[in-house]
Amino acid sequence: MENRSAGGSIDKNKALVAYLKQNGTIKSKKVAEVMETIDRGLFVPKDVLAYVDSPMAIGFSATISAPHMHAACLELLEDHLKPGMHALDVGSGTGYLTACFAMMVGPQGRAVGVEHIPELVASSIEHINKSAASSLLKDGSLSVHVADGRLGWPEAAPYDAIHVGAAAPEIPHALIEQLKPGGRLVIPVGTLIQELKVIDKKDDGSITVRNELPVRYVPLTSREAQLHN
Ligand code: SAH
Repeated sequence: MENRSAGGSIDKNKALVAYLKQNGTIKSKKVAEVMETIDRGLFVPKDVLAYVDSPMAIGFSATISAPHMHAACLELLEDHLKPGMHALDVGSGTGYLTACFAMMVGPQGRAVGVEHIPELVASSIEHINKSAASSLLKDGSLSVHVADGRLGWPEAAPYDAIHVGAAAPEIPHALIEQLKPGGRLVIPVGTLIQELKVIDKKDDGSITVRNELPVRYVPLTSREAQLHN
């Protein structure tokens, strides 16, 4: 298969992170650091504008989220992405955010991406291999799988952090189950009108849900429905 990956540009990537810091999207030093380390340009097809703050089509009716959405989700999950923690990225697409999670939880942690389009999983692995997260993929602390993410990924559960990169009509039960007490799930919920929801599981197992901001994501759905869209 032709390699459609763009070459990265550390300088342009740094400028993008500087812009997101300047406009107040990135407040956390740790988030700035990881977004500087993982070059977005390595994760998108050649013909896609990598360093513009906008979502971009990546084929298969999927999009790479806008940099400000990646940053917002990393900020919301930062306290649940400490070294040694477990993170799940549902609808991992290009693999960009999964790679960021892996850098944050480190070699003692576990970062899992689940994506239901096999071609996207294959290209995400190629992207990660070119990025600063490649050694984590080799040592197994980072992995990406072809599966229905609505079922989570029980093998590495429970998770301190779960991120969903596609909008669910309602919060999938399996994801709540696979959340560790003290853990956090960030998920867009809705169809035409969507809200990014932050779900915290307290130490006693009870759940709180709050709306963070209105968003627009592609649907979390079946592979058939997505490809015949
Ligand atoms: N965070 C990714 C977002 C990709 S778009 C990125 O920024 O690159 C959302 C992704 O969710 C798409 O790649 C789509 O194929 C995937 N998806 C949708 N429904 C899914 C499901 N049920 N299981 C797994 N992946 C799903």
